[in-house]
Amino acid sequence: MGRLILTSKGFAWFQKGHPWIFRDDLEKIQDAAPGSIVTLEKKNGEFLAQGFYSDRSKIAFRLVSRKRGAIGREFWKERLQQAAGFRKAVVGKTNAYRLVYGESDGIPSLIVDRYGDHLVMQTLSQGADHLTPLFVELLSEVFQPDSLTIRNDLSVRGLEGLPQEKKTLLGNLPGHIEVYEENIRYGVDPWSGQKTGSYLDQRENRVRAGTYFRGEVLDAFCYHGLFGLHAARAADRVICVDSSQEALERAAENARWNDQDNMEFRRENVFDFLKEEVERGNSYDGINLDPPAFAKSRGDVTSASRGYKELNLKAIRLLKPGGVLVTSSCSYNLSESRFLEILKESARDVKADLRILEKRGQSPDHPVLLTFPESHYLKCIILEKAF
Ligand code: SAH
Repeated sequence: MGRLILTSKGFAWFQKGHPWIFRDDLEKIQDAAPGSIVTLEKKNGEFLAQGFYSDRSKIAFRLVSRKRGAIGREFWKERLQQAAGFRKAVVGKTNAYRLVYGESDGIPSLIVDRYGDHLVMQTLSQGADHLTPLFVELLSEVFQPDSLTIRNDLSVRGLEGLPQEKKTLLGNLPGHIEVYEENIRYGVDPWSGQKTGSYLDQRENRVRAGTYFRGEVLDAFCYHGLFGLHAARAADRVICVDSSQEALERAAENARWNDQDNMEFRRENVFDFLKEEVERGNSYDGINLDPPAFAKSRGDVTSASRGYKELNLKAIRLLKPGGVLVTSSCSYNLSESRFLEILKESARDVKADLRILEKRGQSPDHPVLLTFPESHYLKCIILEKAF
């Protein structure tokens, strides 16, 4: 078994609890094969933990266990069962959810999403990738899915020296899986959809937003129209905007399925659309803003902040008094306090007074690990235009 020896600075970092060790914090690397399980040790040889080793990424070690003992088939099976048990407790009224969320489930860099009886997995480090055959075997044994597909077409894999790939490893993956979320139904195509087919992290926020929206509602960056679908139950009219034709076609199909004839779909750049709506003098009772991550790295935060401000400022301007804004940021690099600051500046610039109704995060099947801030990326703030 390979060994990684920490520097003193690395040990101080490890003691704070973070599950990653960076290469610069290693004094010595001994017999560590890429993607293997290694032990992490103090300079004096004292055992600290076991985890995945990567010979390419800046993240050289990912914590698997703070205990000694074999990490094999039984160990991983138990971790998968624990992940499933946790979902049983926190997920309800849906058959589409994240079954395994990497570090937060003690299985670093493994993602498994469930759509009905179909599983989609991603392996984002050498360690998880190396264990793919075992994970496939165990997922099949524990969950008996109809199909299991690997969606490893992700650029982050490049940081680990891993290729991009997509393949169905078990069964047949249909191009259209019907799932439900509270009282709406929607279709998923895990082979070609964004992420693993859907944005599962917004599930509870969509349901919650649906309880506030009334009258004229705008769902901006709508993807498959799920925020809009929840809103459409009680709203008079919902306008869904996205730049992707493919996404809009699915959104329209979802609306038909749910017998929702009060939804409209527009293929537009949301930045332009909001500007034009302001110029046309239109207004809304409810607006949902769910843009893609603008701050992909720490260096992007300043320009990303400008993007968030422009969107939120226009949305606040478009809201009628008493109207509700549901606004999200999925940029890990933009903190909740910075996001709230941007919202404050936006409101001030258009001389609006907003009340915070709720501060929310990602759905509970994407649990945040206390010692791993990277696992908390989604912010969803629900506001009301007071006067
Ligand atoms: N709200 C959705 C997820 C949105 S993901 C849900 O809950 O499922 C972000 C969406 O923004 C994607 O569908 C992407 O196609 C779209 N998008 C990205 N940039 C855009 C832009 N400038 N204008 C309009 N849509 C955009």
